[in-house]
Amino acid sequence: MTVWLLGDQLHPDAAPLGSADHVLLIEAHAFAERRPYHPQKLTLVFSAMRHFRDDLRDRGYDVTYLQAETFGDALDRYFEVNPGDDLLGLRSPSHGADDRRRELVSERGGTLTLVENDLFLTSREQFDDWAGERDENETFRQEGWYRHVRRETGILMDGDEPVGGAWNYDEDNRETPPPEWTPPDVPRFEPDATTREVQQFVADRYGGHWGAMDEFVWPVTREAATQALEHFVSVRLPEFGTYQDAMRDGEWALCHSLLSAALNLGLLRPREVVEPVVAAYESGDAPLNSVEGFVRQVIGWREFMRHVYRRAMPNLGSANQLGQTASLPPLYWDGETEMQCLSEAVTHVHDRGYAHHIERLMLLSNFALLYGVDPAELNEWFHLGFVDAYHWVTTPNVVGMGSFGTDVLSSKPYAASANYVDKMSDHCSACPYAKTKTTGENACPFNALYWDFLKRNEETLRGTGRMGLMYSHVDRKDDAELEAIRERADEVRERAADGSL
Ligand SMILES: Cc1cc2nc3c(=O)[nH]c(=O)nc-3n(C[C@H](O)[C@H](O)[C@H](O)COP(=O)(O)OP(=O)(O)OC[C@H]3O[C@@H](n4cnc5c(N)ncnc54)[C@H](O)[C@@H]3O)c2cc1C
Ligand code: SF4
Repeated sequence: MTVWLLGDQLHPDAAPLGSADHVLLIEAHAFAERRPYHPQKLTLVFSAMRHFRDDLRDRGYDVTYLQAETFGDALDRYFEVNPGDDLLGLRSPSHGADDRRRELVSERGGTLTLVENDLFLTSREQFDDWAGERDENETFRQEGWYRHVRRETGILMDGDEPVGGAWNYDEDNRETPPPEWTPPDVPRFEPDATTREVQQFVADRYGGHWGAMDEFVWPVTREAATQALEHFVSVRLPEFGTYQDAMRDGEWALCHSLLSAALNLGLLRPREVVEPVVAAYESGDAPLNSVEGFVRQVIGWREFMRHVYRRAMPNLGSANQLGQTASLPPLYWDGETEMQCLSEAVTHVHDRGYAHHIERLMLLSNFALLYGVDPAELNEWFHLGFVDAYHWVTTPNVVGMGSFGTDVLSSKPYAASANYVDKMSDHCSACPYAKTKTTGENACPFNALYWDFLKRNEETLRGTGRMGLMYSHVDRKDDAELEAIRERADEVRERAADGSL
């Protein structure tokens, strides 16, 4: 039996490998010309695939590794040599990918059998049993799912009760580090000969793509990913929770795990990531607020996003309940803005294809939401700019969570003014804009956009859950103040569009 694995299914124990001696891997190149993917993303995927190939060969598998323009071209070559072959593979979490692959194989006279993707913690059936029958207007909330997964798996459970007595310790996870705090180390995985060869290939073939190549720090093998995990657990996990929502000038990683790229490639399974984290709590090496916070991200949010995406596609991809139509302003590409917070976040993405969760949610997508960017266009930007971006995870996060294109996974938009940025970062003190001003020449752009956003979308948002407090503030503003806000918001939009914000 031949097993066909994709570039995001690189686990040595992926289910089909148990019954195979022959493995097919296809490195397709043309797709990466359709969008200017970050060179580090392309390097990561191609290098991880080539390392996986070598590892499988070392373990005795016969590997056919095809480099081609498209899957179709590669399969033409494969079936010329292996006519009528029956392939076995793992389901892909990306919408439509399995049908397309089955079609490509059957057009060439073969068959493709796909089994449940065991690189996730939970199965489709588990989520569907929890969520019930499909309904066109269905909505889901992460917290209920998360508790269900903990009960089902026994992770961080004490009998029927959550360890420590509470399900969620988020209230302890909203601090910012004091000025004298030194961030813990970030592991670096220096490119080896294989990665350097891929870097050269990427530079030659995709030379004009957006993003820097020189700061490549990502693990491309299971061994390096395991080291990254161990490093996180021993060095950054203890403070992960406390500073989980913090942002700081000049700091791209803080105490985040930086494991999303390895998880999404399949180099690590969620359970493998969560077990040492829970063990660190049990041995007294990490506090519960950090451990629970991390566990929730991995077994709660990550699994939740994947299943909600599956249930909400294809509508999710183009969802735009607020009718937002603006194009992404040029600062998302060149980082050229006086806004200290956004300049930092865009630079992080440009330099490493990474920004941490709060930068993604409360800076990069919050600004686009308030500005009025079309969620699909923002999704494209995230999709091509981040090393961990795959359609199944980027789309629910950007279109659902960040843009509030639909209420399928949250009941209110993640919209915030400078107040939030100032509370969670030190950016405002280094910024020429005035965080407390809403109108006037140097008023923080977030503020007028925020109030204007609430006013513009009043009809949709006022009645939705948990927006009452925000609208009680809007109601205190008189017509003259609202008019001044609208003018300032228009001016901010114009300046952002012409690159002078
Ligand atoms: C607008 C937006 C876009 C995003 N795009 C992506 C994306 O393309 N790919 C991606 O993997 N994550 C995405 N996320 C989720 C999250 O921001 C990243 O997973 C996280 O920042 C990765 O960094 P880390 O590994 O250091 O995470 P940590 O902060 O250390 O968190 C631990 C792990 O939890 C998981 N996780 C946490 N939150 C989420 C979430 N909302 N959805 C899925 N997994 C989550 C990740 O696997 C992550 O590695 C996005 C979030 C937002 C708001
Ligand atoms: S003042 Fe406004 S633009 Fe400047 S860093 Fe603060 S939130 Fe960002």
